[in-house]
Amino acid sequence: MPFEPSGRPVAEILDDVRKGGRLTAGDAHTLLEDGDLLELGIAAHEVRTRINDATVATYNIDRNINYTNICVYKCRFCAFYRQPGDPEGYVLPFEEIGDKIEETLALNGTGILLQGGVHPDLPLSFYEEMLGYIRENYPAIHLHAFSPPEVRFIAKKERLSFFEVIARLKKAGLMSIPGGGAELLSDGVRKEILAYTKVSADEWIEVMRQAHLNELRTSATMMYGMGEPLQARIEHLQRVRDLQDETGGFTAFISWTFQRQHTDMEEVPETYAHEYLKTLAVSRLFIDNIQHLQSSWVTQGKKIGQLGLRFGADDMGSIMIEENVVSAAGTSYRMSQDEMEHLITSAGFSPHQRTNLYERLVTREETVELAQRYRHALTPQNRDLASPLPIVG
Ligand code: SF4
Repeated sequence: MPFEPSGRPVAEILDDVRKGGRLTAGDAHTLLEDGDLLELGIAAHEVRTRINDATVATYNIDRNINYTNICVYKCRFCAFYRQPGDPEGYVLPFEEIGDKIEETLALNGTGILLQGGVHPDLPLSFYEEMLGYIRENYPAIHLHAFSPPEVRFIAKKERLSFFEVIARLKKAGLMSIPGGGAELLSDGVRKEILAYTKVSADEWIEVMRQAHLNELRTSATMMYGMGEPLQARIEHLQRVRDLQDETGGFTAFISWTFQRQHTDMEEVPETYAHEYLKTLAVSRLFIDNIQHLQSSWVTQGKKIGQLGLRFGADDMGSIMIEENVVSAAGTSYRMSQDEMEHLITSAGFSPHQRTNLYERLVTREETVELAQRYRHALTPQNRDLASPLPIVG
């Protein structure tokens, strides 16, 4: 059984990993089961400082835009979707997407994460037009969009390969693909939570492989804490690490815990901070080939999110201008850029905004012109997120 504990002593495993050795799946299982939280954190932080600048922690500014909440699937853990025909279902007009982008730019943002439910009736041309509209009107914005379930559905609907769909979307303006829809890449669990039909573990991996072959970078995600066995988390980590060995196309690994309110799985016990931080640390130790690991303040809250920077994470993800999926399940936090920087500074790191694909750091001088131009687009509920604009020139 490849995902069973290796049975090696924890101290021996941590010693190996400190010397640059690679963990086996069995070792990762042993660490999750028997490792001491603080020992794991110290080892993960050592590895994090080997891979990334020890003095810096990064974040980005982008916005989640859910262009539709209509979905043909009924994942048990999801409180966001509406079935076709539901009066609460929507598809955002392009102009409304534009308003949200302008507000993102007004807050020094550099990108958007465009993701929906899986709408049954939207053809590939709709996605191309949406990307084209954004490209034409907001050429500075990074377009991170359409997770594997959406790509898979479009491919089936249009009778195209994953590669062809991604190539068409890329031509229309797509710049990278988010790792959503992975939850746990273990088909037994996927069948249990009704996520297998939207995308199997093999299909999720295959969409990502084809994206990387199309020379698009993607992120990898993991959502856990749905009552699954530990083996399922290990299988997930192994599959992500294997694909990264093959393609090198993942920029970051982002994990978070299942949020249960208003879902079909409210009876599942909550996953608390101890388990979250332990899983984060073991992820850093096991996934030695993806450079960046994010801390999930959006599900864990600001204080645990900040602590994640000492348990293997080097990045805090985005400030949240808008988030609809996690908040539909009862968890909602917001943060301004100034607060994000304060959180990082007080954890002992120098805070830096980064680009969406982590290629470089972003200065406020770079974003100020567009922030000025779109200041008028700030909605009353988001005015408190805006920082004073620096005087440039
Ligand atoms: S998680 Fe995504 S695919 Fe599943 S029901 Fe929700 S919106 Fe649909």
